[in-house]
Amino acid sequence: MKYANEISKRKSFAIIAHPDAGKTTLTEKFLLFGGAIQTAGAVKSNKIKKHTTSDFMEIERQRGISVATSVMTFEYRDILVNLLDTPGHKDFAEDTYRTLTAVDSVVLVIDCVKGVEEQTERLMEVCRMRDTPVIIFVNKMDRDGKYPFDLLDELEEKLNIRVRPLSWPINMGSDFKGVYNLYDKSLVAFLPNKKATDEDVVPLTDLSSSYVDEHFNAKDAAQLRGDVELIEGVYDAFNREDYLAGKLAPVFFGSAVNNFGVKDLLDTFVDIAPIPRNRTATTREIDVNEDKFSGFIFKIHANLDPRHRDRIAFLRVCSGKFERNKFYHHVRLDKDVRFSNPYSFLAREKNVVDDAYPGDVVGLFDTGNFKIGDTLTEGENFYITGIPSFSPELFKELVNKDPLKTKQLEKGIRQLTDEGVAQLFTQHGGNRKIIGCVGDLQFEVIQYRLLQEYGAACQFNTLPFYKACWLTGPKEKIEEFIRFKSSNIVEDKDGHIVYLAQSEWYLNTERTNNPDIQFNFTSEIH
Ligand code: GDP
Repeated sequence: MKYANEISKRKSFAIIAHPDAGKTTLTEKFLLFGGAIQTAGAVKSNKIKKHTTSDFMEIERQRGISVATSVMTFEYRDILVNLLDTPGHKDFAEDTYRTLTAVDSVVLVIDCVKGVEEQTERLMEVCRMRDTPVIIFVNKMDRDGKYPFDLLDELEEKLNIRVRPLSWPINMGSDFKGVYNLYDKSLVAFLPNKKATDEDVVPLTDLSSSYVDEHFNAKDAAQLRGDVELIEGVYDAFNREDYLAGKLAPVFFGSAVNNFGVKDLLDTFVDIAPIPRNRTATTREIDVNEDKFSGFIFKIHANLDPRHRDRIAFLRVCSGKFERNKFYHHVRLDKDVRFSNPYSFLAREKNVVDDAYPGDVVGLFDTGNFKIGDTLTEGENFYITGIPSFSPELFKELVNKDPLKTKQLEKGIRQLTDEGVAQLFTQHGGNRKIIGCVGDLQFEVIQYRLLQEYGAACQFNTLPFYKACWLTGPKEKIEEFIRFKSSNIVEDKDGHIVYLAQSEWYLNTERTNNPDIQFNFTSEIH
């Protein structure tokens, strides 16, 4: 329990959203409150808008920005908040899913006009897999969006989680008048383009207070009182335990661009969000309060400048204290490694850091020793578990165009897939290499990088597969299945057997014919 004090000060989370819901804007407002930036507009969007190879440098420029904003650490009310950035672009969804394994909770941003969108659902599924606590922020209330009660129903239905409003809007769109905070019972009136300050927040012990009648017209006052009565009647009182167990999502309403409702959200976040928690490892549960250090790599970012080919591996500390220049055990390579220049991301600057505690993220320079899911310990052999691999949606065969560069190609594709750019499958009992990605953009990135960084020219041939299924079940059944379906069987990088299905129909047929085998769309790295 040596570090209990440090641990109790830390909250690590990610903001997730379908693109355009307002993630960047909200991030910026949080950083302004945390004093990590001084002016609006300082946070650049990490959105990738271009889609062709000729725009590659643009993508890289944007990726460069995203590394700088990968982790943003700031202090707010004596809490050290680690905000982990997630790319919104669908093609980089896997990156986001992995980042979610490195945080203890999540803020999900919803556009009140669009409601729950495709990416929102998928991101939420990942949170549900790990019971990650989620706070929902319904953004853009200055626009005419969906009726708040309908939105709450939609959230419950599509996201498969119970919700509980902790703030409530007074109208919306051009008629948006303010937000009532049900959590600490205070009211803020909304004035467009005016930043709400602490003085504007009026604590109300009772909604029948004359303040409500003085500041809102009779219709709005009656509506607010009626709505709040309805909420208190329909929804159970907010239960923090349920939130921490990932069973209940508190909901806030506001307008990020107008900095409205954001402080309510941040204050409540700091009050209720979890501090770093225990983790599961392959051999045992890792108590966050253990004195001995452990941590895992959840993201690797390549430096694409040909003069500086190093990479940055992002380490999440899970227990104990990480120290600069101390030797740690790299479990997979079974060797001891140390880092002379690890850095942290306080105030959006990269600073060399001497020590770090559970919940913190440290950037480590890497010359190719790490892959995603690697664990560092003080000597014990285990891997922190929970990092998912999801079935890719596009499959292409990697074809070598220059036989003299076979070695380079092999090395390049291994390193790129270690970084998590794409998944590599190898034909079972053969040598054909199949690359699986979520989006087309990654194929272009791979082709470009193989040539630029490894001097290997390749070509991709599209394959007619739609899903990768990791097979589990009785050994003899799987062996029999492999014999019959050999042309559809590949292995992932860890040697797990994977069936590539041509279509949903084929998959369903195989499922019916092989009831003892499970066809899983996800697999855990460990
Ligand atoms: P991201 O893709 O989720 O990071 O979204 P951004 O933060 O870049 O926001 C997308 C667009 O929505 C931008 O043009 C923002 O200015 C706008 N936006 C963000 N918050 C609000 C809001 O509260 N109201 C309105 N009307 N627009 C907003």
